[in-house]
Amino acid sequence: MELFWHRRDLRAADNVGLAAATGADDDADRGPAAPVFVFDPDILEHASDVRVRRLLDGLAALRDDYRERGSDLLVARGDPETVLPRLADALDAERVVWNRDYSGLARERDAGVRRALDGVDVAREAHHDAVLHDPDAIRTNAGDPYSVYSYYWKKWTDRATDDPAPTPTGEGLVDADRLADAVDAVDWDDAADAVADGGDADAGSVTADAGLNGLAVGDLPAPADLGFAEPDAEVGPAGTAAARERLDEFLDEAVFAYEAERDYPAKGATSRLSAFLKYGEIGVREAYAATEEAMAEAESDARPDDAPEQVEEYQQQLAWREFYAQVLFHNPEVVTSNFKEYEAGIEWRDDPEEIAAWKRGETGYPIVDAGMRQLRQEAFMHNRVRMIVASFLTKDLLADWRHGYDHFREKLADHDTANDNGGWQWAASTGTDAQPYFRIFNPMTQGERYDPDAEYIKEHVPELRGLDADLIHEWHELSPTQRANAAPEYPAPIVDHSERREAALAMYKRARGED
Ligand code: FAD
Repeated sequence: MELFWHRRDLRAADNVGLAAATGADDDADRGPAAPVFVFDPDILEHASDVRVRRLLDGLAALRDDYRERGSDLLVARGDPETVLPRLADALDAERVVWNRDYSGLARERDAGVRRALDGVDVAREAHHDAVLHDPDAIRTNAGDPYSVYSYYWKKWTDRATDDPAPTPTGEGLVDADRLADAVDAVDWDDAADAVADGGDADAGSVTADAGLNGLAVGDLPAPADLGFAEPDAEVGPAGTAAARERLDEFLDEAVFAYEAERDYPAKGATSRLSAFLKYGEIGVREAYAATEEAMAEAESDARPDDAPEQVEEYQQQLAWREFYAQVLFHNPEVVTSNFKEYEAGIEWRDDPEEIAAWKRGETGYPIVDAGMRQLRQEAFMHNRVRMIVASFLTKDLLADWRHGYDHFREKLADHDTANDNGGWQWAASTGTDAQPYFRIFNPMTQGERYDPDAEYIKEHVPELRGLDADLIHEWHELSPTQRANAAPEYPAPIVDHSERREAALAMYKRARGED
């Protein structure tokens, strides 16, 4: 019997650690395994309404997958260092198994859990699962981690990939009745006593607080039980079945025009897989194998000559995800610090009112406001628009990228520390492979180029719906009277892009010690 600890891998299929723990990978000596998810207060401290909702939806889908196999999902709350040894003991488990998580906070947590399990003499095992190629696998010829994506990509794409991990059957899983017995057998009282005595506060968090009674079979809490509210945004579907449906649909047709259309937000030409990948509801080996099948089709006569490039461009995005995962793994400090420091330091302007207008989607730059409002409404934003709003915050408002990162972290359902941080630092010219500081997006020409008919803008900014696209793209040039006549509810630009562009150049020059 083994205990499998789910974290960012909310799926039964193509789950390397689970396949090992259940014996699905053909090791007859392994399994059955009891799956558990632990609501860890330290991790919840960094969560948001949107992400808690999305997490609960993913857990519900995972639990239902287990129920279909005669098993269930154990749901616990507390410090994993306390919960897991107790649970392993109650189940008489030989081993606790999990998949690695590469962020700094998660690695600290996992080190604590390893120590706690050593203390009670339970074996443990961690697997590489979240990425195709683990963060140490791809290095420069000198043995260093890569900080330039294009070189990383070449090695990434040339490496052999593993097949998807086999899915466990009911036989590899502990059945639901036995899980219920194990829950009854866990003695939480001594933990409560410890708290009452002013003892181990962490241990107390596994007891009867938050409506979870420490541990339950399949019962998921409501967001309020965890200290969160229902989000205003629609977070979209969750779970493996929904992820597969979305990927299949995307690979059926859209992938063959991906490179040509991915930058146009109104076209909906991207896979919208990011939240599924973030919560691990689809395995990356499975997703990649599916793109390889699309590549075979692209190379056949059935598709235009440029189809392989289109599919490869999509595979490149999966590689960006792994590139940023390895950047974070090797540089955990980037979560709060610049990857690339400027000699004299950047003196951000950080005007609170401008930052607040950006967050509300009321900057008077239509494409920026459309993006910020999409974020609020859908807990998602199109990639091109993420780049535009990030450039606007850092290079038009001259605000520290950390304001933007924190806002995205709160509002995005797909928030992923590595990708979000990588995206922000790229936009702020402080990251790896840094976009040179003098490349500053013009929000009006970006809007005109990537949303020529203003379809995306009109979808998210109702005040502009009645206007011709030309007028929308000229918004910054209109007189106050023209603006008042055209769309009285929509704000004038809060800053002058040309002026701010010069100010940004000066700010970066000073930061480089050139002034
Ligand atoms: P697709 O175009 O279909 O791409 C497929 C998958 O590849 C994505 O689901 C994602 O997992 C990965 N991917 C695509 N682009 C990137 C990229 N530039 N970097 C890393 N991985 C990528 N992505 C997140 O998953 N979480 C974030 O928190 C996040 N924050 C971002 C913040 C900023 C400022 C920027 C500029 C980008 C950010 N991205 C983030 C990357 C990208 O915008 C999203 O992954 C993408 O928009 C998700 O939509 P999709 O699934 O339709 O992408």
